Amino acid sequence: MDSFLTQRASRTQTVVVGLTALLILLVFAIAAPRAAEPLRAVGPFMPMCALTVFTTAVIAAFLLAAQFVATRQPMLGALGGAYAFSALAVAVQLLTFPGIFTSTGLFGAGPYTSAWIWIFWHGGFPLFVIISALIRAMFGHTPVSASDVGPWTWSLIGGPIVLCAGLCLFALYGGLPPAFHPLERNQAFALDPAALVTWALNVTALLVVVMSGRLRVLLDQWLMIAMLSCFVDTTLNFMSMARFSEGWYIARIFSMLAPGVVVGLLVWEVCLLYRRLFDAHASLLHAAVRDALTGVYNRLFFEAQFPKEFDRAKRAAQPLSLVIVDVDHFKQYNDTFGHLKGDRCLTAVARALAEVLLRPGDFVARYGGEEFAIVLPETDLLGASEIAERARQAVRGLNLETPAPAGHVTISAGCASTVAHETRLPDDLARAADAALYRAKSAGRNRTEVAEVRWWGCS
Ligand code: GH3
Ligand code: MG
Ligand code: MG
Repeated sequence: MDSFLTQRASRTQTVVVGLTALLILLVFAIAAPRAAEPLRAVGPFMPMCALTVFTTAVIAAFLLAAQFVATRQPMLGALGGAYAFSALAVAVQLLTFPGIFTSTGLFGAGPYTSAWIWIFWHGGFPLFVIISALIRAMFGHTPVSASDVGPWTWSLIGGPIVLCAGLCLFALYGGLPPAFHPLERNQAFALDPAALVTWALNVTALLVVVMSGRLRVLLDQWLMIAMLSCFVDTTLNFMSMARFSEGWYIARIFSMLAPGVVVGLLVWEVCLLYRRLFDAHASLLHAAVRDALTGVYNRLFFEAQFPKEFDRAKRAAQPLSLVIVDVDHFKQYNDTFGHLKGDRCLTAVARALAEVLLRPGDFVARYGGEEFAIVLPETDLLGASEIAERARQAVRGLNLETPAPAGHVTISAGCASTVAHETRLPDDLARAADAALYRAKSAGRNRTEVAEVRWWGCS
């Protein structure tokens, strides 16, 4: 089955992605000139966004890692690593951000700690996206060997986590010089080397995603949207260093989009897979109880369902009828016209039998080669013989030519009906119907015979 993520995007999907990209660029074009405009301070906005980024990035990392384990395509694991890196970075940045948990930030954070972690986050994520593109260029769709999945998972997901943890420790206790910071400095980002490197990584990642797969598959298209969001987030932050500026608010919203769109895509895939699984299960169930040739229920279904109907009838003290139908002189038909035409005849007969049943509880099953069983709950012997007669006439109405004496295909039917008694078994009813069928055959075929069965001995 073609993976949803790596299947070629349809025209509609491409248009949706194109419009989304245009919308992002439009918002950026409107926001950029007024990025530094101050807006009302909303204290919980930053932690709310950070928590959202953390949660969605963790989900993205988990789902991509699961995809890697399932498909063994290392590029998916590497992308999962990029999101794992993001998740840890945003969590530590939140914890060390001044004025959120403590006035200076947790873990003994210095005034530049959270700014450096922000730089590592916004530089590290695109860096790992670039690495995932390189891995794809190296491996293509070739899966890694099943025995290597464990070490690959540790490297692809664990590696970025360990690196992020190291960088966070470095930002906390490495005595780093002042980084640009929305709170601390208000300089043009062009003068800040860390900002320039971060920005260059974002642009490179965006170009790599666009160029490497040429946006042919869904994953590339939505990854491009994620990288575009990341680029806008980074650029607006650099253009408006001050907290609670218009650019700062909009950048936070775009920071949520980068993991959000990929999670959306992955959840969409899960829904699709769920639907396919549901359909596959339904068709499997259908195939398991149907006779492959005639399409009516098979013997397996009859064996399972008939005793249940028998018990139900017994509990409700209702009659249950069974009609066993056999095609007359069918061997002769086969010998004359061949097995293939014989099969087509059996299918037509089965359809004719099924069409005479009107109640939802009635069913016809293929009992043996050219024998069918009709089960009729809440139907007495008179009703059963009427149905059997209708079935006989329906088959006659098919006008299937045969070398047998009648000139056309006919059936014989044996009916049995009972109000079930607790000491008797469904097989007794089947035997009685069979005996009635035998009588119909002996009496010249093309007829219906009945046998009333009262198991409790008052027949
Ligand atoms: P009777 O009137 O006594 O029932 O005679 P008959 O020829 O129908 O009975 P018999 O039991 O001698 O032959 C049944 C034939 O049904 C033999 C077999 O070739 C044919 N048959 C059974 N299953 C299939 C099937 O799946 N396809 C086809 N084409 N023929 C089948
Ligand atoms: Mg037979
Ligand atoms: Mg027969």
